[in-house]
Amino acid sequence: MFRLKAGLHNFQEGVFGSTSDLTCPTNVRKPDTLMIACSGQGTAPDNVSFGNPGRFSILQHFGASMPSKSECKEHEGLSCDGVKTLFDRHDFRHVIVCGHLGCAVIRYWLQPVIEQHVNILRQQFEKRARDLVDKNYVPHTDAERCALMVCKHVLCQIENLLTHPFVVERVLAEKTSFHGWVVDDETARVLGYSSEKSAFVPI
Ligand SMILES: [Zn+2]
Repeated sequence: MFRLKAGLHNFQEGVFGSTSDLTCPTNVRKPDTLMIACSGQGTAPDNVSFGNPGRFSILQHFGASMPSKSECKEHEGLSCDGVKTLFDRHDFRHVIVCGHLGCAVIRYWLQPVIEQHVNILRQQFEKRARDLVDKNYVPHTDAERCALMVCKHVLCQIENLLTHPFVVERVLAEKTSFHGWVVDDETARVLGYSSEKSAFVPI
């Protein structure tokens, strides 16, 4: 379990769904769950899930990063239109943002000095989790700091998605709920974010 400080994110009530929503039997004939995972994750992300086969539509992207409304025009690879099209074409009931503890993207931000040639937008985009951890936590080891950053990065991407009006509309209409997951690459154990506990807990 990874405990997080409460109050660092501003998620409104109803944003997060429960794990049982994903495990209950469903008759859906098309994917109803969007899983956003890191392109560097070594296994097919839905292999770690326990949902019914066929429920998952997978989007693998650098660091499982999703642009906020203000960032997305300039962020390479994903546009606002691309994000909106995903939601328009599929009636996703659930969105899982899935990070992983062995993430090379997050490990990169553990460096004391970030190389200057790295795209400045990407720096701002990716390092929010690092800033949150460094300002609010005192991790004892690099591994602990990295795990905190992976957890925070997942929550930051959910926050980013919630800056898009078409996403907020779906959440307010109770059409879509979010799930924050972190996978341990070595054990395939999955931790899910509990907003009540402000922690990532085994699921
Ligand atoms: Zn990764």
